[in-house]
Parts: sequence; structure tokens; C-alpha cells
Amino acid sequence: MANALNPDTLKVALRSIDEFAARELPDSLLIELDERDEFPAEIVRRMSSGDELGIQLLFVPFEYGGMGGGAYDVYRICERMAAIDLGLATSELATFLGSDPIRVGGTEEQKALYMGRIAKDGALFAYGATEPEAGSDLGALKTVAEPVSDNGSVTGYRISGAKQWISNGGVADLYTILAMTPGGPSWFVVEAGVEGFTHGHHEDKHGIRLSNTAALFLSNVYVDADRLIGGVEGQGLVQAQKVFGYTRLMVAAFGLGAGWSALDRAIPYSKKRSQAGSPLSEKQGYTHKLIVPHAIALEAARAAIEETAERIDSGEGELQIEGAVAKFLATEAGDAAADAAIQAHGGYGYTHDYMVEKIKRDVRITRIYEGTSEIMEITIARGRWQEHLKSGGSYYHDRARELEVLHAENPAVGADVAALAHHALAETLERARQEKLTRSQHILMRLGELIALTEGSAAFVRRAHRAGAKQLHEKASKRLKPVAIAAASRVNARNVALRVATESIRWVAGADGGTVGDLEQRLGIEAIYRAQGGLLADMAEVTTAVYGRMRA
Ligand SMILES: Cc1cc2nc3c(=O)[nH]c(=O)nc-3n(C[C@H](O)[C@H](O)[C@H](O)COP(=O)(O)OP(=O)(O)OC[C@H]3O[C@@H](n4cnc5c(N)ncnc54)[C@H](O)[C@@H]3O)c2cc1C
Repeated sequence: MANALNPDTLKVALRSIDEFAARELPDSLLIELDERDEFPAEIVRRMSSGDELGIQLLFVPFEYGGMGGGAYDVYRICERMAAIDLGLATSELATFLGSDPIRVGGTEEQKALYMGRIAKDGALFAYGATEPEAGSDLGALKTVAEPVSDNGSVTGYRISGAKQWISNGGVADLYTILAMTPGGPSWFVVEAGVEGFTHGHHEDKHGIRLSNTAALFLSNVYVDADRLIGGVEGQGLVQAQKVFGYTRLMVAAFGLGAGWSALDRAIPYSKKRSQAGSPLSEKQGYTHKLIVPHAIALEAARAAIEETAERIDSGEGELQIEGAVAKFLATEAGDAAADAAIQAHGGYGYTHDYMVEKIKRDVRITRIYEGTSEIMEITIARGRWQEHLKSGGSYYHDRARELEVLHAENPAVGADVAALAHHALAETLERARQEKLTRSQHILMRLGELIALTEGSAAFVRRAHRAGAKQLHEKASKRLKPVAIAAASRVNARNVALRVATESIRWVAGADGGTVGDLEQRLGIEAIYRAQGGLLADMAEVTTAVYGRMRA
């Protein structure tokens, strides 16, 4: 994506979102809409309209009448939207997702027409991929598009089938529908209200209840041939895959925004709430369990998101594995942070009156849609397994060496410990290869998680280094000061190194009757234990930072 907003425009956009939310979306209204299970159509239309907030304009490429935000801009905006309400954010995402097959695979005419409708008319899209029996495995789709021919040339298609869990499903103006043609899976643009096209009721969901989710039913729905996206059959799965790096980054930003939104409520609450003679915020056992580890995991995820967004914007391609890493880390961290925020509020957090309860239910979806966490683990493990094999086992040793070079330049950001994690990961993968452990799907997926954590630790170290050297992206979040980012990165690197080493022992031993041979030595487990030194002091540093009491 060549487009990108200039930093001032992004700042203005973020401020406009905040002002709109402060004016129109008080917590009391969001809680009420959640309780009433209501999609606030008027609010969503105003958020999408160019005359008012115009969020969609930010996503539409410049050449089609939008403002042309890049991946970095989209991440910042998605994070902000999610911090306000994940249901409303999902409604905006649905338009973005729905138009994505057109953006990446449409003909010039299709792009101009449909992107123009989003930009000019604030048209809402829905993205119809999932089916009752085809979720994670989209290849199993049953919706069919039969060609209609006139004098031997295809003039249209008749689409029949059903779609499940479609965001904006009952409220969109335009739908992109994935259907099987004789040439393979293909995307079609279908207008709301055409004959044979109906939708189910607004689903009664656990969370994101402000987002409309509905099933779609297509019974012999006729569309002209120019509604086939890209004009060639069989491109559907490729087009869907092409945008995953990018769209998963958006959902990652949702996890990040919602997770921080929960902590941002728990932190001030703990300053006001006193138990046993002092505020909860002054109790180490409270902050170090319920606040600090979550702030650190969220910031590690932020580092992975920012790095991936920057690389996508600089034209490095689709970065599907990196997108999956970012999504996995941020949505798991966001969900855990929201859960901890309920705990941090005690009994009050367990009631509908407190936003943390709603945030927890809302953020849960981020681990499911746009590819579940388990599908992320499989994607990450398979992708990096290939790198391990292709490099003859040196892929993560090489990454470790890069971190060692960084440590020599800047010893303050935990690069040496992240390097230990990378060396240990390389050894783990090699042992898995020798003993054919990835034949066990559970081990493959646990490796996926360890890979995500390890790559997250490297991204965090690099971000901490750049923050210290005042080289962060000009649009980067400045939530924490460099000294706190460095401390958080050190804590994270220690956690990750320990996780990789101990989980490696667990699965290698667990797979073959307890024999680990020289694995402990190869993993560098003693060095990893020693690297835990200073952990509590660093956690104290992060506590000070997240509570806004920076050391003089
Ligand atoms: C609120 C909401 C909004 C949504 N919005 C949209 C939308 O706008 N458009 C759209 O197209 N879809 C949408 N979805 C669908 C969503 O993307 C799917 O629910 C998701 O991809 C999972 O598919 P599934 O529900 O069929 O679960 P399944 O694929 O059946 O998975 C069930 C469980 O099995 C696990 N699993 C699946 N395959 C494997 C495997 N090979 N190995 C190990 N474990 C596996 C999964 O991780 C999960 O835990 C939405 C869903 C929800 C709930």
C-alpha cells in the first residue's frame, strides 16, 4: 500500500474520533446499547459519513476519493476505535474487510465504483466468507455461483447458499460473497435487497452486541458478470489470503485497544480503592499480578503490530506470518488484560455497571474472528518451520546474532536475553525436526505460540532501542517513555526466554518418555535462569510508569 496519511492528519483524525466519542458515546449509552443488544444504525452511519466523522474515508485509497491511510494509520485508528467500543469498531472493520477483495483483486472499474461508493455515500459493506460448515476451513465452502450464458459468453451468475456470522450482515448496503464457480472460489459483489437475498436475525452474542452479526441466505440470486471481482473465476482464496497480513493487523489493533481500555479503567480504580489501609495501587502483589504483566504483554504486541505495519507500508509485501504473530499476541494479551481488569475491580468488575465487564465480553471475539488463535498458531508454526528447514536450522540463531549486535550497541533493552530466547527456539525446532515431533499437532501449535512470543520479544527490543534513540516512527504511540519501554522489554524478554526453555523441555520430554539428553545445555537454560536477575526491579519501574509516576 503506497498510501499513507501525514502525521498531522492522523493526529487530527484520532482527535476527531476522541471528540466524537466524548460527545456521542458516553459509557452509560454504550452499556445501555449492549444491554438492549442494539446496533446503533444512526451512529454508525454518522461515523461512516464523510459529512461527519468519515472513518471510512481514512481507509479508502486516495485515488478513489478517500484519504488513503496506510497500514500504520489503520492500526492507530483501529486501536482508538476499539478502546471506545469494539462493536462499533467491528462495524467499520466489516466495511474495510468487505471491500478488501475489491481493493486487492478488483478491476479498475470495480475499484472506482465501489471504493467511490464508500467514500462518497458512506456505503456499508459486509464480508461474506464464513459458512455454517466452512469456518477456519474456507475451502469447504458450499455456496455456488452458476454461470448464466448468452450466445456462448458468460453474462451473469446465479448464486445459492448460506453465510454465517456476517458482521453488518443485516444492515450493509453491499456484500462481497465468496462462492464456488466452475473455475474455483470467487468473490462477487451483491447489492442489499436484490431478489432471493435475505438475512437472518441479529445474533444474540456474548459480546460486541453493538455490532450487527447475521446469517445470509442466497437463493438463486442473479448478478451480472461484471460483479465477479477481478473478472476471472478462481481468484477468491488468493484474494482473501492476500489481505490477511493487513486485516489481521486491524484485529490485532482491536485486541490492543480493548486491552488497554480495560487497564486504563483498572489503574485509576486501584488508586481510589483502599483495602487494608492503603490504595490497591500501592500493593505490589496487586500491581505485579493484575496490571503490570498485562501492560507489558500489550506493549510487546504493539511492537509487533507497529513493525509489521511499517514493513507493509514500505512495500515488503503481505507479511502474513508477521500479521498472524501480531494478531495472536495482541488478541491473547487484550483478552487476558480485560480479564485481569475485572479481577482488579473485585466484585464491582463482575457487574454490568462497570465497563470492564463489557470490554471483557467484547474483546473475546478478537481471538475468534479473522482466524482463530489456534489457526494463527498453525499458520505461524508452518511458515517458520519452512524457514528453519530452508536455513539448515540457523534461522533463529541468525536472528539471535542480530540481537547480540544490538545488545553490544544498547545493553539496556534486553536484547541479550531475547537472543537467548531465539537460540533456545532454534534448538527446540531442531530437536523437533530430529525427533519428528511436529507430527503431533499439539506440539506444532505449541511451537507456533513460542515462535510468536519469541518474535514479539525481538520486535519489542527493537522498539525499545528506537525509542531510546528517539528513532520511533513519527506516528508511533508514545504511551510509555523510553526508560519504561526498555524496562518492559527486559521483563518481556526474560519471560519469553524462560517460556521457550521450559516449554521445550516439557514437550520434548513429554513426547518421548522423558529423555531430554543434552537439550538443557543446548537451550542455555542456566543462562536463562541467571538472566532473571533484576526482574522485580524492572517490574517496579514499569509500575511507576503505568501509574504515571515517572522517577525524577
Ligand atoms: C461476532 C462474529 C463476527 C464475524 N464476522 C465475520 C464476517 O464479517 N465475515 C466472515 O466471513 N466471517 C465472520 N465471522 C466468522 C469467523 O471468522 C469464524 O467464526 C472463525 O473463522 C472460526 O470459524 P468457525 O466459527 O466455523 O469455527 P471452526 O473453524 O469450526 O473452529 C472451532 C474451533 O476449532 C479450532 N480449529 C479449527 N480448525 C482447526 C484445525 N485445523 N486444527 C486445530 N483446531 C482447529 C478453532 O480454532 C476453534 O477453536 C464472524 C464470527 C463471529 C463470531
